[in-house]
Amino acid sequence: MLVLCLKQLSKHLCGLCLTTKHQVYQLGTVFDMKRHKTKAREDSDDILDKIMRARRLIFEAGYSCDSDCVNDILAGESLLPIQVCFNR
Ligand SMILES: [Zn+2]
Repeated sequence: MLVLCLKQLSKHLCGLCLTTKHQVYQLGTVFDMKRHKTKAREDSDDILDKIMRARRLIFEAGYSCDSDCVNDILAGESLLPIQVCFNR
């Protein structure tokens, strides 16, 4: 996942794992390094499905990028409805 594909000022700050804002004070600690491994982001079919569903809502159904229905799909992992050439 590209870091640029993360929503700014959202719940998750890190492009590599699902560390949340309220855990940022632990950055650089041993606990944080373990969390990078246990809660690592993966470019999975589930993520791709969420992005494609959000893109269909935006480009086919006409919802805005910041609409509730798009945010319901993407906000859980701070994703953006962007598809890059590195995706499958
Ligand atoms: Zn991280």
